[in-house]
Amino acid sequence: MEEIQKKDIRKLSLTQLEEFFLAQGEKKFRAKQVYEWLWNKSLKNFDEMSNISLSTREMLKKHFEINHILVDLMQHSSDGTIKNAVKLYDNKIVESVLIPTTKRITACVSSQVGCSLDCNFCATARLKRMRNLNPDEIYDQVVAIKDEAETYFQRPLTNIVFMGMGEPLLNYANVLEAIDKITSPEGLGMAPRRITVSTVGVTKMIRKLADDEVRFNLAVSLHSAINETRSRLMPINDSNPVEELGESLKYWYEKTKRKVTYEYVIWEGINDDERHARALAKFCKIIPSKVNLIQYNPIDEGEFRQAKQESVDMYVRILESQGIIAKVRKSRGQDIDAACGQLANKNEVGELNTI
Ligand code: SAH
Repeated sequence: MEEIQKKDIRKLSLTQLEEFFLAQGEKKFRAKQVYEWLWNKSLKNFDEMSNISLSTREMLKKHFEINHILVDLMQHSSDGTIKNAVKLYDNKIVESVLIPTTKRITACVSSQVGCSLDCNFCATARLKRMRNLNPDEIYDQVVAIKDEAETYFQRPLTNIVFMGMGEPLLNYANVLEAIDKITSPEGLGMAPRRITVSTVGVTKMIRKLADDEVRFNLAVSLHSAINETRSRLMPINDSNPVEELGESLKYWYEKTKRKVTYEYVIWEGINDDERHARALAKFCKIIPSKVNLIQYNPIDEGEFRQAKQESVDMYVRILESQGIIAKVRKSRGQDIDAACGQLANKNEVGELNTI
């Protein structure tokens, strides 16, 4: 008998699946049932699709397979944070993190294997970019964390941040498709306002987000509003300088009317002076925004050191005196290398280690 080359069924949209069902002489509504099993219920095999007849399931098995991620290693931090090392179908590994607080459970997910951006202070940058994640690989990370939230905390997942490995705006189509599935009723039905996409500041893609009138939140990893310093920290700033970033954010705000969050680390001797704090305050005036002052998570013996508390206080004072909301964020999951910028730092699993 002729072997049919099996396709990953989750590569098909609902419409494509419906067309396939009709071509097979099946009822169209069955396609929607299967689609819900695949996405809403995250089933990993056809045999569990209890409202689908045996013969239809056999037909599906002949044509398709269901590719799924596998949580290869789960680490628990003393502060409750959980880090998943996730194995993809080609054995590559990415990481995602569950961050519990009293009010929220947040999933921090990866969008690429490795990263191409070379930010000097970030562990993920050391890995280089290997490939984009597919929409289902992003979606499955969220499902894994949703399940862990229910198992370990008896609470629902409330928020999602694209702050794991990779640059989400350089994997634009797949990230948007994953978000579409996460927010759709056949998927997880989560509200877009509970999702935040974080970018290094790819201005062209910020404009595209605005044109696409997305309804999720945007965060920008700023770290300095002075070009010279920012370029030293993040080479992307050479081609996407601060002024252009500001312009793209104006465009974002005009189209979406959504505030932006700036992520900002203060390092000793780099941006811990008043000049940098005032430049940040000025940048924050461009559009309605708030600032998250993130604690630096050391990644090696390198040149970067978290600024002293008095510098952090100075920033907060200057920002607040100008009516800008600034929150100091404590690091979470540092003991298991799950904190911002630490992903893949000491990962001992999978292929990443060979880079
Ligand atoms: N590429 C996207 C998504 C990654 S988000 C972006 O850059 O926004 C990860 C966040 O952690 C970014 O704000 C990044 O600047 C920050 N970060 C990276 N390394 C860090 C470190 N060692 N300590 C604290 N924050 C870090």
